[in-house]
Amino acid sequence: MRRKIVAGNWKMNNTLKEGLELARRVNELLKNDQDQEVVVILGTPFIHLSEVGKLVDPSKISISAQNCSAEPRGAFTGEISAEMIASTGARYVILGHSERRAYYHEDDQVINRKVKTALEYKLHPVFCCGEILDQREENIHFDVIRKQLEVGLFDLNQDAFSGIIIAYEPVWAIGTGVNATPEQAQEMHKFIRDLINKKYGKEISTDTSILYGGSCKPSNAKELFHNPDVDGGLIGGASLKADDFYSIIHSF
Ligand code: PEP
Repeated sequence: MRRKIVAGNWKMNNTLKEGLELARRVNELLKNDQDQEVVVILGTPFIHLSEVGKLVDPSKISISAQNCSAEPRGAFTGEISAEMIASTGARYVILGHSERRAYYHEDDQVINRKVKTALEYKLHPVFCCGEILDQREENIHFDVIRKQLEVGLFDLNQDAFSGIIIAYEPVWAIGTGVNATPEQAQEMHKFIRDLINKKYGKEISTDTSILYGGSCKPSNAKELFHNPDVDGGLIGGASLKADDFYSIIHSF
C-alpha cells in the first residue's frame, strides 16, 4: 500500500550508546502525536538493530538495516544475512545505496540478488537508485534510472514487487547540501512511476511509495514532499538530529 514514509539512514554514525539516545529522543517526540499517518523508519547500523527495536514504540517506529548479504547463510566472514536482520525484528533494509554502489562496487546484478534474498526473509527493501552529476549533465539520467530499475527490480513478480519501496537519490545531492529542486524530483518520480505502470500495471504503480533522498532537511522537505509523486524521504544527515528528523516527519 502506498504510504507516506520518512526513513532515516544513519550510515556509519553513532556508537551504540549514541544511537540509543537518538532513537529514544525520536521516540519521545513521536509519543504525543495522535493518529500518526507517516511510516517512520530508523535505518541503523547492524549493531543497533536489536536494541533500538526494543527501545522504540513499534506502533510508531520501524527499524531498517542499511545493507544485507546476497547469500542466505554460510561461510561469508563479516557478512550479515537478511535472516539475521529479520531475527532482530527489523522489517526493512536499504539496498543499492549509492555509497554501496560506489565504494563497495555493488552493481545492479548484486543488488538484484540482495533484493530477492531480503524478500525471501520478509524484509521490505528500500531500493535506492540515482544518477551521478555527469550523467545528469549528459542528459542520460532517465536511461540510468531505467537500467537500475530494470536490472535491479523488474524481474520480480507482481507479488514480490509489492514489497518494495523505491528511493530516488540523485548522487550529486547526497550529503552535498544541494538538493534536487522539487521539479526535478517530481519529474523523476513520475518517470519511475510510469515505468512501474508499464511493467506491473496501474494498481501496483499507484500503490508504490517512492521516496526522495539527497540533502533533504527541515527547510526543504515541505516543498519536496508536496509533489504528487513524492511519498516522503530517505534522510541521511538530518536523521542524526532528532528535532530535524521530527520536523521532516511533519512536512507533509
Ligand atoms: C542518504 O544517504 O541516503 C542521504 C539522502 O543523505 P543526505 O540526506 O545526507 O543527503
